[in-house]
Amino acid sequence: MTYRQDRILVQEHLAHEQEAPTLGSAEAEELRTAIRRELEAQDAVLVAHYYTDPLIQSLAEETGGCVADSLEMARFGNAHPASTLVVAGVRFMGETAKILNPEKRVLMPTLEATCSLDIGCPADEFAAFCDQHPERTVVVYANTSAAVKARADWVVTSSCAEAIVDYLDSKGETILWAPDKHLGAYIQRSTQADMLLWDGSCIVHEEFKGQGVEDLRATMPGAVVLAHPESPAAVVEQADVVGSTSRLIEAVRTMDAEDFIVATDSGIFHKMHEMAPEKNLIEAPTAGQGATCRSCAHCPWMAMNGLDNVLRVLRKQDEEIHVDAATREKALIPLQRMLDFTSDRQLQVAGNA
Ligand code: SF4
Repeated sequence: MTYRQDRILVQEHLAHEQEAPTLGSAEAEELRTAIRRELEAQDAVLVAHYYTDPLIQSLAEETGGCVADSLEMARFGNAHPASTLVVAGVRFMGETAKILNPEKRVLMPTLEATCSLDIGCPADEFAAFCDQHPERTVVVYANTSAAVKARADWVVTSSCAEAIVDYLDSKGETILWAPDKHLGAYIQRSTQADMLLWDGSCIVHEEFKGQGVEDLRATMPGAVVLAHPESPAAVVEQADVVGSTSRLIEAVRTMDAEDFIVATDSGIFHKMHEMAPEKNLIEAPTAGQGATCRSCAHCPWMAMNGLDNVLRVLRKQDEEIHVDAATREKALIPLQRMLDFTSDRQLQVAGNA
């Protein structure tokens, strides 16, 4: 096991220990009422990711906030007049919000909520990798720290990555890609671009098993397989729809099928169910053949966001995102490049975590 993998396992273990507590309905309602009051008093708005607790997602919508992917969360925060953004998600989302909205205060329920892709791509090691390949255009996924973004030429999300890499390839550029190797390999296959991949992965999507999806599908004629491209190639190859969180939600809403086998974080089921309550949603298998246990298909860091710590941060304002000015200025360039590219081509930038 490499040092990097070891660090991810330790962080994952700690995250599981710190999962938000399960609440009774009276307790949850009390917290929701108190949060509503605090949001108003603090001129704050709640922006939540699709993978967070359904109680947070519904509260965000009820109070005039939003539930979305990371870029839309940041865009929403940018357009919203509130002076404080409470970002329920993982740390890189708070950082992205701060890079795009430096004048706003960005709070998070817990700054401990991180991401295996972010942990697996430390800024110093990544800078050294870039230095070894100065001829390549550096393209990084949104799931990275502000410091890694500051070293990049482009930031991408899962729905615009293919179009941007295709564009760079058409200009004869070669790519250095980080950090998700599965998403990178998927884009490499579809664009045929010359891409050098960093060895990172999402601990949630990596667990989905190609054989398991195939076996399950054989028992459910007519089922549609949906996969996020952070999943391994064996899973993606079997998918009828491969795409970002927003694209997968849209597929459930618009496709005729009754059954959907879903290879992404199970937190997304809340929005899918809301959009199409009559559809049958099934988690893609995570256990290999003969395995006696399976992972839960839910991000341990997303699970650290709970109503209790949303209320605590609003009252104490003790978990605030700061990005130093020099890093912010550098990281804004590749982020802005993506936003300009996608708005010029009217592409959706909606992406994952
Ligand atoms: S589910 Fe999203 S936030 Fe969690 S580890 Fe995977 S990519 Fe990171």
